Amino acid sequence: MSNSTNSTISHLECTSCNKIFPKEQLLNLCTDCSLPIFARYDLDKAKYEIDKDQLVQRESTMWRYKELMPIENEENIVTLGEGWTPLVHAQRLGASLGFSNLLLKDESLNPTGSFKARGMSAAISQAKEKGVKKVAIPTAGNAGGATAAYAAKAGMEAHIFMPSDTPIAFQVECEQNGAQVEKIDGLISDCGKIVAERKDAEGWFDISTLKEPYRVEGKKTLGYELAEQLNWNLPDVIIYPTGGGTGIIGMWKAFQEMEDMGWIGSKRPRMISVQAEGCAPIVRAFNSGLNNAPTFKNAETVASGLRVPSAIGDFLILQSIRESNGYAIAVSDKALLEGVQLLGKMEGIFAAPEAGATVAALSGLVESQHINQNEKIVLFITGGGAKYIDVFI
Ligand SMILES: *Cc1c(COP(=O)(O)O)cnc(C)c1O
Repeated sequence: MSNSTNSTISHLECTSCNKIFPKEQLLNLCTDCSLPIFARYDLDKAKYEIDKDQLVQRESTMWRYKELMPIENEENIVTLGEGWTPLVHAQRLGASLGFSNLLLKDESLNPTGSFKARGMSAAISQAKEKGVKKVAIPTAGNAGGATAAYAAKAGMEAHIFMPSDTPIAFQVECEQNGAQVEKIDGLISDCGKIVAERKDAEGWFDISTLKEPYRVEGKKTLGYELAEQLNWNLPDVIIYPTGGGTGIIGMWKAFQEMEDMGWIGSKRPRMISVQAEGCAPIVRAFNSGLNNAPTFKNAETVASGLRVPSAIGDFLILQSIRESNGYAIAVSDKALLEGVQLLGKMEGIFAAPEAGATVAALSGLVESQHINQNEKIVLFITGGGAKYIDVFI
């Protein structure tokens, strides 16, 4: 095993009924309850084998945490250099809004321009390890772009289904990277249904959000990086634009893993989920005290990554918000576009509309006393703005 990653993955486990599966199994959802599955690790072993203070010497990608990732053979890692993105102090933006310790995790610098690269690098690597030749995905944009790129790198076929009103750059990007693209007159959930209906006959592996266990493993590296970049002291607050929720769920998982390894203590940031007013199922469910989020009818927002009317991981998102003493808030499309402009003007980062929502949420969160201007607050700038040109002009 000279090419071993020394992954400490031990098994797969259903997030709801806790049914256990062998780590070698190629799975979508739990075979009993049809809910998401997580990869589990031998964290006692990982704790013993990884010296967190030596991580500084490792490569500047998310694969610096490879013992805590599911891939077992180095040769199966499909990478374009994702992760280890800058965590920058937003001095001018912070000062303009009265914050002293506002930080930005700039995920726009990932390959394909968004944090979807993390999830896809992990999922496509794991699919390669398990012999998959064809993948399929419903997408609001960035997930499709990342799928096309990583599938190309791996030599796999990619079948991508996107709503017909998805910004045109995403379609062009997928096609230029060799993927088969179909535009659907409907929402991402309608695209998801088509993938589900056709995948068995076509021999596609479905890599929809949280319908396979590994994209969330890529996204969890956001949590590891944040901790490492802050010298193993987590911030007071995380503000995250939430669609399917893999980022928030992944970070929450990472925090528990790090605590189990003794890398951090039990203190958690308050997880604040931001959605668009035109599609805010998690905000509604949070405010109504529900554990699941009913489908949000007539979903509409220019932040296409937030146009997810129903998320299979809804209960996990709500759990992390509540357990962290966090909050959920919706902002208008007008406000999130102004957020993009303010972020650009003050910090020189041209962000996706989804990321603009985190800036837009700040004033309302101060007013309702869910955050305070002296706290250490991290905004997740989940993607770049260039592919959304049609939204901005
Ligand atoms: C997909 C996406 C989101 C939503 O992310 P989830 O982890 O699915 O909630 C936010 N911002 C951008 C730019 C995205 O592409």
